[in-house]
Amino acid sequence: MSRPADTMRREQAIPPPPPPPPALRVSGLGKRYSEDGPAALSDVTFEVADGELLAIVGPSGCGKTTLLRLLCGLMASSNGAVFFHGRPVARPPREFALVFQDYSRSLFPWLSVIRNVMFPLRGAGLTRAGRRARAEAVLEEMGLHGVARQYPWQLSGGMQQRVALARALVSRPEVLLLDEPFASVDALTRAELQDVLLRVHSDFEHRRVTAVHVTHDIDEAVYLADRVLVLTSAPGRVVGSIDVELPRPRAQTTTRSSPRFLAVRNQIHALIASKEANDDRYPVQT
Ligand code: ADP
Ligand code: MG
Repeated sequence: MSRPADTMRREQAIPPPPPPPPALRVSGLGKRYSEDGPAALSDVTFEVADGELLAIVGPSGCGKTTLLRLLCGLMASSNGAVFFHGRPVARPPREFALVFQDYSRSLFPWLSVIRNVMFPLRGAGLTRAGRRARAEAVLEEMGLHGVARQYPWQLSGGMQQRVALARALVSRPEVLLLDEPFASVDALTRAELQDVLLRVHSDFEHRRVTAVHVTHDIDEAVYLADRVLVLTSAPGRVVGSIDVELPRPRAQTTTRSSPRFLAVRNQIHALIASKEANDDRYPVQT
């Protein structure tokens, strides 16, 4: 007996290709700085999609910097692994760039702004003129063309952090990792830098960068991110992942006063507060 035609058609159909692996996959990540010491990070698992801006928020000391260092292979984990497009990360991949909180230590004071930004392009197979042209284009994009010949120490903190961001972007990274990059600047400059980051993330040289932005500032996390991963401490672990679902482009006034913004930030506050309250780090004295 012949089989119905639709069954045969189904068997002949080519199965769809498997979805591409996420930009980053973090699986069961744990870190102890010494063998008998406490865990700084325990069983952290999450993914970051291509082009996503993920914020990681948590109180001071919960392991955010530890997590970023592990993400880019700057140090070895005690458990678990990190994968970049499905490949294990063992040392910092060429496609990654980092921005740290302390811009004054990350920029070279003896190099002018343009030479600081050209620095990561050594060994990239470009001529000096090519490197200069690339650096100038990034400075232009970051609104820094007027200070190219100055030295970092001649600039305000906010401008220095812009230079640090330009230097991270000049090598056209696929993944941008930021460790509390705006924590040391005043509130107005911070808002300005947040908007620079949003612009860069959505359209840097006509493509979307995948970004992991670590902060202890809940409002900043919600304002910037597609999704917020919430960590609590001792050991650092993931206690929630919240989709922000706020429309882009975002704006300091309208976004921050929207009901959705307030709902998400309150949800994160409540999550952290309840986990901290239940934490046995502070046992009740009886
Ligand atoms: P965060 O960035 O969230 O403030 P960290 O990742 O810096 O947190 O630190 C997490 C925990 O790991 C803290 O208890 C901290 O004291 C500890 N820690 C961080 N770096 C080291 C290190 N190099 N050696 C030993 N302990 C460390
Ligand atoms: Mg830190």
